[in-house]
Amino acid sequence: MITVDAALAHLMALISPLTSEHVPLIEAAGRVLSQDVTAKRDQPPFAASAMDGYAMRADEVEQHSILKIIGESAAGHGFDGHIKPGQAVRIFTGAPVPQGADFVVIQEDITRNGDLITIANIPSDNSNIRALGNDFTKGDAIAAPRLLTPNEVALLASMNIASVPVTRRPEVALISTGDELVMPGESPGPDQIIASNTFGLKAMLDALGAHARILPIARDTESSLRMAFDLAKGADLVITIGGASVGDHDLVGKVAGDLGMQRSFYKVAMRPGKPLMAGRLNNAAMVGLPGNPVSAMVCGHIFIAPMIRAMLGLSTQAPTPFTAPLSAPLTANGPRQHYMRAQLDQGRIHAFDRQDSALLTILAQANALLIRPPHDPPRAIGEQIAYLPI
Ligand code: AMP
Ligand code: MG
Repeated sequence: MITVDAALAHLMALISPLTSEHVPLIEAAGRVLSQDVTAKRDQPPFAASAMDGYAMRADEVEQHSILKIIGESAAGHGFDGHIKPGQAVRIFTGAPVPQGADFVVIQEDITRNGDLITIANIPSDNSNIRALGNDFTKGDAIAAPRLLTPNEVALLASMNIASVPVTRRPEVALISTGDELVMPGESPGPDQIIASNTFGLKAMLDALGAHARILPIARDTESSLRMAFDLAKGADLVITIGGASVGDHDLVGKVAGDLGMQRSFYKVAMRPGKPLMAGRLNNAAMVGLPGNPVSAMVCGHIFIAPMIRAMLGLSTQAPTPFTAPLSAPLTANGPRQHYMRAQLDQGRIHAFDRQDSALLTILAQANALLIRPPHDPPRAIGEQIAYLPI
């Protein structure tokens, strides 16, 4: 049995960052930017009004000043002329500030009578003008790598970047194994249950920027498993679920070995998730996850998510845990690193009483995994404890 950190190091050695491709901007959200991109223009490309009002010379902005309106500047339709002393231009938000003007008095501070305006109220010091390039200028960079958020997509659009360089999505094949499993929506026999792990893992991995495929469930026979591995061909990462323990029907290790899997480890000193195996299978990384639903999902968070981030070129480091004070005591931990399903509430954390690795209802309520190192002593209320948000 190896430690969690050693297992992570082995897993990182099984994968490498993937190549880059270009996608249209509308498909860029959730993808990882693979190269720095630079703005193709200044924004705003001219001095722009930030308000609806009247553009004029700043040295004429005084309460009771009277000015003559000589035209209009609207968004998309600027005013061509030059403002001279005593003149003003009607202006709207986003419109170019006319030459000669360096101040916009908001319309609420103006009274208008035909072509003449009077500055009725003392205007604020704010010129209400957005300088050319005050958001960004041509050549300003968005640095890679980063997982693109909706906010960054808006920025890319504004920079006129219609095609975005991103890391290819990791292709992940997910294989459930077990005679007891049927797909959601099917009618299970009396001894059967619904496959849940592949669905939870697909949701997790797709959200990280991978593309996960759920393959047909492999039955507990060598031929069925072999067929599933065959269907997984072409994936960057093949994940099996279940069948990895030492029971008579646990065939994953044997079949993967027969197909040429070079095993890098089997069994990790952790709870849940001990019967984890990994290696290289042809051109793919292969990870055999334990079948218990919570074990599979916890191993997804602890091991598979960092692998996906590394394949995407984001980081080869597992996330650094946070700490929070305990709101309930903990008994001593055993010899394996324990990832306890926990709830972080208003800055304080407690582990759920029931930690059985089959309980998806508890996992669904958890928003954190509380981390207990091997042989961690009992912990009292208020003690700081490490956790990972999930
Ligand atoms: P195994 O490792 O195959 O012995 O499976 C351990 C436990 O996890 C058994 O109770 C299985 O029924 C359950 N299990 C295995 N695979 C899945 C799956 N894909 N979805 C839900 N439960 C599963
Ligand atoms: Mg099984």
